[in-house]
Amino acid sequence: MPSDTTRRLLTVYCASARGLDSRHLDAARDFGRLLAEHSFDLVYGGGGIGLMGELARSAKNSGARVTGIITEQFVTLEQGWDGCDELIVVDSMRERKKQMEERADAFAILPGGLGTCEEFFETLVGRVIGRHAKPLGILNVNRFFDPLLALLSHGVESGFVRSAARDLVISAVDAGALLDALRAEITPNGGPSHDPRAMLPMHGPHG
Ligand code: AMP
Repeated sequence: MPSDTTRRLLTVYCASARGLDSRHLDAARDFGRLLAEHSFDLVYGGGGIGLMGELARSAKNSGARVTGIITEQFVTLEQGWDGCDELIVVDSMRERKKQMEERADAFAILPGGLGTCEEFFETLVGRVIGRHAKPLGILNVNRFFDPLLALLSHGVESGFVRSAARDLVISAVDAGALLDALRAEITPNGGPSHDPRAMLPMHGPHG
């Protein structure tokens, strides 16, 4: 159990896909329980399906406050989860991602598809350019994210990505370790920001 029990908001991005391997469902449930035990409340996409649904139900059952942020389109497709403490309905995906980013004290990425990857990169780029200064973690459960982490390192080795940018990503196989690491990196008011020149490719290491 962590010593700091101040409640924090964790925005989690993960899969909407149905019919996933039970290992992924179990991992999402475990993460929901553990985030509550680590004094996090949850902000997520508001869906009742896929890993999103497993995560949210487990977090709520374990005592976390759950806020879902979903678009009108997804509500009308009847995927919104009515068990959320608060379900915020917005007009567009852009607005949804903006609110999910603004509310967060920290971010965690669980396995997912194109939407999850987009959210991961958008959050990482937001940190690199100094739009926010919040920690970002990947739960590399079942080694799902090994290829993504390898791609980032390949980008560093090839000179496309600064190592300082790649190193912003906290990655852990163990959910408790990830939550501890994220909490340790939360700073008051989400800052201070770094100088983007330390992170942007056109400023080094050779240029
Ligand atoms: P994916 O990783 O491709 O499964 O995408 C997860 C993303 O799918 C979410 O972040 C949303 O952009 C979108 N999405 C699909 N279904 C829902 C839902 N019921 N609620 C919220 N977002 C959804």
